[in-house]
Amino acid sequence: MKISSRRGFITYMAMLGLVTWSTTPLYAKAPKKAFRYQETPLDGKKCSDCIYYLPETSECKMVEGSISPDGWCTIYMKKK
Ligand code: SF4
Repeated sequence: MKISSRRGFITYMAMLGLVTWSTTPLYAKAPKKAFRYQETPLDGKKCSDCIYYLPETSECKMVEGSISPDGWCTIYMKKK
């Protein structure tokens, strides 16, 4: 793409920003260690009751890898 004017440059930068924005996930998962994930509940709190838990795939929206329904981590958030 030839950029020969100021308007062309601004348009090019806007397109570049749009491509970058549309290909970047809104959030990225973190390793289990980052949130001190454990395979056992804590004080009755467990992944199966957490808003981030995905029971269909035994995954979490925030933490990488396979997640136990009986697990727990520091960003646990109880479903209402
Ligand atoms: S407690 Fe932590 S690992 Fe478990 S589902 Fe919630 S956010 Fe994911």
